[in-house]
Amino acid sequence: MRVEVDQPKCVASGQCVLIAPEVFDQDDDGFVELLTDRPEPGQYDGVKESAVVCPAAAIRLAED
Ligand code: SF4
Repeated sequence: MRVEVDQPKCVASGQCVLIAPEVFDQDDDGFVELLTDRPEPGQYDGVKESAVVCPAAAIRLAED
């Protein structure tokens, strides 16, 4: 799985950081920062949930 974030879309809700803190972080203004674009298989569920709940649809997932 590959993860992409569209930071300009992010509304700094922090949902993804709460759900998958090993993959997503927030910068000083609260906007999403990607810690890794290649999560481990054990992190897939959290990444998928983050993409679903993101209110800005700023998280995109792609299969390898
Ligand atoms: S859930 Fe979406 S809007 Fe909220 S911080 Fe993460 S990427 Fe940004």
